[in-house]
Amino acid sequence: MATLLVKNALVVTMDPQRRELKDAGLYAVDGVIQAVGPSNTLPATADTVLDLKDHIVLPGLVNGHHHLDQTLTRNLPSAQNNNLFRWLQAHYRVWAARTPEASRTSTLVGCAELALSGCTTVFDHAYVFKNGCKVDDQIAAAAEIGVRFAVSRGSMSLGQSKGGLPPDDCVEDEDDILQDSERVIARYHDARPGSMTQMVLAPCSPFSVTPELMRESAIIARRHGVRLHTHLCETLDEERFTLQRFGKRPVDYMASLDWLADDVWYAHAIHVNDAEIAAFARTGAGACHCPCSNMRLASGIAPLWKYRRAGVRVGLGVDGSASNDGSNMLGEARQAMLLARLKMGLRPPEGPDTDVPTSDPSRDNEWMTAREVLEIATLGGASLLGRTDIGALASGMMCDFFALDLNALGFAGGLSDPVAATLFCAPQTARVTVVGGRVIVKDGRIVTVDMEPVIAEHNRHAARMAEVGA
Ligand code: ZN
Repeated sequence: MATLLVKNALVVTMDPQRRELKDAGLYAVDGVIQAVGPSNTLPATADTVLDLKDHIVLPGLVNGHHHLDQTLTRNLPSAQNNNLFRWLQAHYRVWAARTPEASRTSTLVGCAELALSGCTTVFDHAYVFKNGCKVDDQIAAAAEIGVRFAVSRGSMSLGQSKGGLPPDDCVEDEDDILQDSERVIARYHDARPGSMTQMVLAPCSPFSVTPELMRESAIIARRHGVRLHTHLCETLDEERFTLQRFGKRPVDYMASLDWLADDVWYAHAIHVNDAEIAAFARTGAGACHCPCSNMRLASGIAPLWKYRRAGVRVGLGVDGSASNDGSNMLGEARQAMLLARLKMGLRPPEGPDTDVPTSDPSRDNEWMTAREVLEIATLGGASLLGRTDIGALASGMMCDFFALDLNALGFAGGLSDPVAATLFCAPQTARVTVVGGRVIVKDGRIVTVDMEPVIAEHNRHAARMAEVGA
């Protein structure tokens, strides 16, 4: 039995009452929280004691959409200044040049970066599998860092010669994809509470796989109770593609494939109309908002506020890393808050007196608050992954949290509301990150893996791959 005690902190619980507790902490046994409350109500000691005086403790953030392998191709010159389709075309062959060793380092780098930004559960949408690369490499690397990991056996099968966007030599045979999907589900998917590894099936996008692969993936996923994920409504280019090829808007196209359901969540979901938002709410389909990537590629602004008010399940993802070009969940949450405000100001005027709509007090409830975004980044992400054991700090929940130092330079002068300061002020590095009761970040550093040699090796792989894209 391993016990852990946190004391003397400001604790943001995200419990049903949304309690924020001063001089408080939590007590966990074998990675499961037993009690959250004022420090003097908790056991006096434990195997691991973290005195987090002058720190704020928050539930671990949940990253709902990412491509860890893209840390190898951040900031590629040929892909710095173009929109999604051209950006993808600049990358496909570079990604296909990745090796299993490169994949390991990119997973270590991305997961470490995420953990340092308060993320404890990582979903990775892996979908390029060439040169012997397997999702197994990523699962092993994520376990080295110690994050809770959900990962897709993603796929691309529709090459250029068949009307798709990726080059033919970057896609896989559909039988191989489906066989490997069955293999990794049988080998790795753990549906139990507290699970550290879960599989997802995630054909990449409407323009890189066939409708048959979408349908077959859904059948396999439902047979095994794993979730489904894909990119959707990311750009107007995608909308043109589905209209021309299938005569349907993207959401209608997915509905026709039995992909509009509560075991599905979509990355981006930007270009949707009100009826499609209502359809998400009605069916339980979720949306993962990725503001940095959407700004970087000029894709558009997802209707985050409308989704929330309609009752659509929404989480946050850093996406990328080549379209971000970082893996900072706290930074992403901040960007989500800011972008939702910009979107509100951009609402079409409804009359002659609404040319400065955001100064209108009748619209005060449209402001996206820091607390609402923190909820999206924790409970929202957990909901996308279908998990009820993470996203809040309460008895029976997993012991996943991070702590920020309130004496940090970046918070100076902003402590009249420390909870909101976590997003209003510049994103700070986690001093402590704990996953399942295991300390993986301490004193602002990853303690599970020596990252220095990993970064050096990662950069060697990245340099070799960049030559492919030069
Ligand atoms: Zn993506």
